[in-house]
Order: sequence, then structure tokens, then C-alpha cells
Amino acid sequence: MNILILGGGGREHALAWAIAESPKCDRLHAAPGNPGIAELATCVDLDIEDGAAVAAYAAAHDIGFVVIGPEAPLAAGVADTLRAAGLLVFGPGREAARLEASKSFTKQICDACGAPTAAWARFTAEAPALDYLQRTGAPVVVKADGLAAGKGVTVAMDLGTAQDAVRAIFAGAFGDAGAEVVIEEFMEGEEASFFVLCDGTDILPIGTAQDHKRARDGDAGPNTGGMGAYTPAPVMTPEVTRAALERIVQPTLAEMARRGTPYQGVLYVGLMIRDGQPRLVEYNVRFGDPECQVLMMRLGAQALDAMLACAEGNLAGASLNWAPDHAITVVMAAPGYPGSYPRGQRIGGVAAAAKGDPQVRIFHAGTAEADGALVSAGGRVLSVTARGATLREARERAYAAVAAIDWPEAHWRTDIGWRALARDE
Ligand code: ATP
Repeated sequence: MNILILGGGGREHALAWAIAESPKCDRLHAAPGNPGIAELATCVDLDIEDGAAVAAYAAAHDIGFVVIGPEAPLAAGVADTLRAAGLLVFGPGREAARLEASKSFTKQICDACGAPTAAWARFTAEAPALDYLQRTGAPVVVKADGLAAGKGVTVAMDLGTAQDAVRAIFAGAFGDAGAEVVIEEFMEGEEASFFVLCDGTDILPIGTAQDHKRARDGDAGPNTGGMGAYTPAPVMTPEVTRAALERIVQPTLAEMARRGTPYQGVLYVGLMIRDGQPRLVEYNVRFGDPECQVLMMRLGAQALDAMLACAEGNLAGASLNWAPDHAITVVMAAPGYPGSYPRGQRIGGVAAAAKGDPQVRIFHAGTAEADGALVSAGGRVLSVTARGATLREARERAYAAVAAIDWPEAHWRTDIGWRALARDE
């Protein structure tokens, strides 16, 4: 079958790699793709938030399955348009995508189905929000309701910071995403993400991960899209995983189905775990980036079978073969990221860095080609990913590949996985 992937980051390169490993995949297409994906797929410049344009391309190229990587096309209802055109699609429709696109919607779902999460309140005007803060005090978490690319959330350790965040959101710092503000109880604990495929009725857990959001070693510096990740997350013991499924994931999916908007696709379940009890931080309606890279590294070709079963409504009885191993990814970023950064820096030795070792994959994110050379073209540029029998082994492999890449200006963290390794010791 011919398959089209929407997106062009490290997440989509990892999806493209896993899908291309499967004998079920004939021709792979990607929009827009990137130079790494272009080694596996025909890349095309389409407006991926325009469902009609994607459907027309799919019809013209005999596409049998469309995999939607990022949240923007999902929130724009591209999955609905494609399904209406008779296509098989991986990813939720617009209504179900509200689990990511609106924080207050998710909180209402949690309240309706009893899923444990932080206490919350929602405001559409500044004065009552500030009054509420005065009563709750700090620490407290202030969020713009809509999608703000990870920048709409302030974890405020003091009241002044929380008040400033409320004022900034109502002053329009996040545009429409900030027409409403959600104020949440601050939850303490250890964060982990849990990934579950859902076909509207049945589910298939496909792994756990932890990521590193801060730019610098020791989880210091500004927040980023993610500087690295590893799977599995040791905090997700079988007991915690069962509790998350029974108390959070299954009730949420049942509530979505009850409302007539069954969820189909991957559900990214962001959890805070304390004393063995998980509580929901957030849902995302797509794979995380860079978590997808480590999940795909362990799943390989069977990822396509699982995504197809998910899209076809056939997850009942589906299972995965797990090697008892670990995967880790280290993001190589442009100097200055997440602030302003240069583009166009030459990057050499990428192919050689993997040394033909099937345990190492270098996924492209913000890369481009200029005069036949690979150059940086974004903030997060490469996701250097490796697997191993232990996390330590996977990590050594990944950092050896990072060291072999010829990009002197690059910035990366040297401590990805520290929390899990500290737990082992
Ligand atoms: P955006 O909407 O801007 O794209 P996001 O969806 O990434 O942001 P969240 O995941 O809700 O936003 O929050 C970002 C981070 O803030 C979380 O990963 C977590 O570390 C922290 N956080 C969010 N809510 C809470 C909470 N109630 N208690 C403690 N920490 C929280």
C-alpha cells in the first residue's frame, strides 16, 4: 500500500523509518518531509492544514493510508476531511483533537469521568482570575486555554509570577489561545508520558517515555520542545501503568465515545506520579517529539501494523512483540536555541556516524540541503537515537554517534537519561 505521512520533523522521520521497514509499505510519501525523510519517501510541498489539498494529493497518488504527525492539522479537522473522502487515516478528528487543543475541555472530560488531575478553574476575564489567585496563593499553574506551542503554561512558584502570567495572557500574548485562562493546582511528583493507541473502542499501550524539556544539563535553562528522551520510563511500573489505564485512559475514552466523538489515533498521556499514584497533567493527540523517535526505535516495522489496526478499528486482540531493551535520543540543536539561532551551518558525517549499526538511527528535524551539503535549518536539527540492552548501553551508543557528527557549533545536552540512571544506581 502507498502511505502518506504529514509533517516534517524528527517525529515524522522516525515514523517514516518504521513504516518503510514494513513489507506492507510500497511507496512512501511525505508532506513536507525533510532531507532525512527524502531518503525514504517522495517529499511534496503541500499545505498540510488544508484537508482538501491533502485528499486531492492522496487520490492522485493512490494513497491507501495517511498518518498525521503534528497537532495543527488534527486540530484543523484534516482527519475528518480525509475520512469523508474515504481514506484510511491515523489521527483523531477535530472534536476528539480538543483533548489537546483546549485545556478546559480536557478538564471537563476528567471531571465527567472521574480521572484524577489537578484541581482547576477557568476564567474569561482578568479580574476574577486575579481574585482567584489571591485566594489560592502559590505555587500554582497558569495556562492559556488553547494551543500555544508549549509556551502558554507558567508554573508559578510565587504569586507575582502567576499574576503576571494571567495579565500577559489576557493582554493577548497567545492570541486566540489566550481568550480563556485555566488556573490549576500545582502537582508535585515525577513526570512521565504514556502512549496508547485507541481505535474508538479498544486500546493498545505502545510504550512509556520521559523527556528533558530544559535546554541545558541538570534540567537548567529555558524550556524547549525537548532536548532528549528515553523509553521505557522506570517510574511507569506495571502498577502505575495499570492505574493510569484504569483510572485515566479508559474512563476518558469511554467518555469521548459516550459523547459521540470516539477517539482514534495515538493518545499521549502526560502524567504526574507521586507515591505510586498517577494524575493527568495533559493529553496530546499525537506522538511527542522526541518521544516518538525512541518509541519507533523499539517498535520498528510493527508500528505500521499497530497504526493500521488502530485506523481500521481492529485493535481488539492486537499485541506487540517487545524486546526487553531501551532506547534513547539526544537532540542536537542550533547554538542559541530556544532563543534566536543561525541557520545554514554545514553538518558533516551524519551517515557515517550511524556506522551502519542498526542500533543507531539519526533522525532529521530542522535540516535542509544547500549546494549538495546538509545544513541546519531550524532550532532542533538532529535526533540521534540508539537502542541497547540497558539504558546505559543505548546512551553510550547515542553519544558516540553524536561525537562522530561534524557540526562544531551544535549544542546538545550531555545528561539525557540521568534520572533513570540515578534510579538504577
Ligand atoms: P502549550 O499549551 O503551551 O502547548 P503544553 O500543552 O505543553 O503547553 P502542559 O503540558 O499542560 O502544556 O504543561 C507544560 C508543563 O508544565 C508540564 O509538562 C508540566 O511540567 C508543567 N505542568 C503543567 N501543569 C502542571 C500542574 N498542574 N502541576 C505541576 N506542573 C504542571
